[in-house]
Amino acid sequence: MKNKILYVDNYTPVTGKTYTLFGENVTTRQYYSTIRDVTDHLLDQFSLSEQDLLNYLQKVSRNRYSLARILRKNPQGSRPGIILHYLHKTLSAYSPGVEEHLRSEPFYKFFTDYAILTNRAQYYLYMIIIELVNRVYKSKFLACDYKIALLPYCLRATQTDCKASPDEVDYLCRGCRKDCFINKVSTLLNEQNIHPYIWRTTGLKSLLRQLVKRYDTVGIMGVACIVELARGMNSCQEAGLPVIGLPLNANRCIRWMGDFYENSVDLEELKLLIS
Ligand code: SF4
Repeated sequence: MKNKILYVDNYTPVTGKTYTLFGENVTTRQYYSTIRDVTDHLLDQFSLSEQDLLNYLQKVSRNRYSLARILRKNPQGSRPGIILHYLHKTLSAYSPGVEEHLRSEPFYKFFTDYAILTNRAQYYLYMIIIELVNRVYKSKFLACDYKIALLPYCLRATQTDCKASPDEVDYLCRGCRKDCFINKVSTLLNEQNIHPYIWRTTGLKSLLRQLVKRYDTVGIMGVACIVELARGMNSCQEAGLPVIGLPLNANRCIRWMGDFYENSVDLEELKLLIS
């Protein structure tokens, strides 16, 4: 009940540079309901297991130019064409700013920050990929001896006088503000014996190496914008680690917006994911 009061008090729609999980709604519940329905529909339509659909979408999502062409021309004779046509009908409300963002980015970003040039078709696939990774790995993640969550620095960046301080892994929230989303998320994670860290200084690959040496089984949870979450989940899968993740409600950090802005995650969805 305590968490629910905090959640409702501070949950206002936010829009990011390219996406918002609120769409045109006042909460993000509709997004998660749609993602579940759309994923079920794709599994049924192609008679694939969750793992097989995940493998397929991860492979297809790497070819940004081909995907953009398929979405633009909208051919429905191929499997990627059928999928993208369907995703465009069901998910376009959640990524309203992609084209304007891509038009505003300078060409050199192609060499310096390729991920920031993620296109609309890739956003659609990443949304489904995140849902599928959660389905495939959730029970393995929950069964791990040691579970860690990496929370994004930007979720606390607008909090003045943040009291977070480092331990041997990274920064830990000290719970100084009840309205801070890092605090709300950390409280829920701690209740499920998942160790939350504000990811600030540690490189993902070196952290994973350290953890697998120290514990028999290690599970990783990520909270990040859609693009970085899909990429981070892929790195964990390649390292053979069970991974789950929750997307930020929008991409509003300095990398995308030029400054930091308040952001949030869906705490109801977090509870479902970790229980
Ligand atoms: S609640 Fe945690 S993350 Fe938020 S401002 Fe305080 S110490 Fe920093």
